[in-house]
Amino acid sequence: MDEALLIRNVMVVSPGAPTVQRDVLMEGGRWHFPALPPAGVRTIDGTGKILLPGLYDVHAHLREPGREDSETMATGCEAAVAGGFTGLTAMPDTYPPVDHGGLVHSLREMAARRARIPVEVAGCITRGRLGQELAEIGEMQASGAVMITDDPDPVANPQVLRRALQYARGLGVLVATTCEVRELSGAGAMHDGAVSYRLGLPGLHPCAEEIGIARDIRLAQSCGSRLHVRGISTARSVEIIRRYKSEGVAVTAEVYPHQLLFTDAAVGDYATVFKVRPPLRPEADRQALLQAVREGVIDMLATDHTPHTWYEKTRDFGSAAFGMTGLATALPALHEGLIAPGHLSWEVLVERFAAAPRRLLGLAVPEIAEGAAVNAVLFDPQALVTFSAAALRSRSHNTPFLDRTVRGAVVWVALGREILLDRL
Ligand SMILES: [Zn+2]
Repeated sequence: MDEALLIRNVMVVSPGAPTVQRDVLMEGGRWHFPALPPAGVRTIDGTGKILLPGLYDVHAHLREPGREDSETMATGCEAAVAGGFTGLTAMPDTYPPVDHGGLVHSLREMAARRARIPVEVAGCITRGRLGQELAEIGEMQASGAVMITDDPDPVANPQVLRRALQYARGLGVLVATTCEVRELSGAGAMHDGAVSYRLGLPGLHPCAEEIGIARDIRLAQSCGSRLHVRGISTARSVEIIRRYKSEGVAVTAEVYPHQLLFTDAAVGDYATVFKVRPPLRPEADRQALLQAVREGVIDMLATDHTPHTWYEKTRDFGSAAFGMTGLATALPALHEGLIAPGHLSWEVLVERFAAAPRRLLGLAVPEIAEGAAVNAVLFDPQALVTFSAAALRSRSHNTPFLDRTVRGAVVWVALGREILLDRL
């Protein structure tokens, strides 16, 4: 496992450093920049390839315990490795929900045994994710929970959220809310607009999200608390975040790759694979999200990897489950859809998908620098990858990329002394 490796003439994209083309040597779990390439070492031609830090996903649903038919800790993390992620945070909407310290502790132990990448555990904001009383927040923090969230549900009662924000502030716990006023969403199944009218589907009105975002950030401001918001899909949501940031509120925001890659037109002829929450929106919103990612108004990307069984997605649009998987596909899809055509730079991608998510949680940000610990992905923009069910590595295949071929592939992933993936 601890073989030295020389990558010649590779484009190195490291957070906060200028992008350069150079030779890099991996030896003893650390990077070295040799003045002269050493002899007798396994050598890869890195010409045309990108070396970047391992990505980090702050938002993955791994389904264990309770729904191992759709995903497990082990399969979710293998999907992550296949997609170039070297760390993730598991959401607490399991069965039972992660709402006390004992379950945080046992999940962290399970991850240490079964996952090849570090897994952080999120706890619930409310007991049983029921939105009524606060979960054992202090106990979960003491057991190592890195954030509290009731994702995929919002905290409906603003008084409960206010108490959670005040309590979390005292403890220094990160609160992440999924912003939506469910009374406004009703039975909505997709974006409320021309496509939903044509299909005769009930719409999810943007107001449900925008009022939820404004409400949650205003509450955090009034409590002097830090808040991380998710479930952002409209131009107006971006403007709300921008305004509160300009007022100095400690709010951070994430967006999902599929919101940057697809519009509501993708639903086409009732394609349930595109049924997600928040829903895919029209092109103007997609453009606003992309601009917000470039500017940093949206701080980071997160997959919201949401595995569902075939049975849960293969039914009529109204009753199919919300969500798509994303761990194995996010990086190649973002490359093909946005980076290759010049809409997003590698530097911004690395900042938003490797550096910012770790900073949010207080984790070390990996660098590719002389003496730095190895935590990196080699990406080949010319290679083709076909996302067969096996290539996805997840137990669930609810992704629009299933059996699709994308240009640009994760070809090698390493963490410390271990090569996690080697397709070279
Ligand atoms: Zn989620």
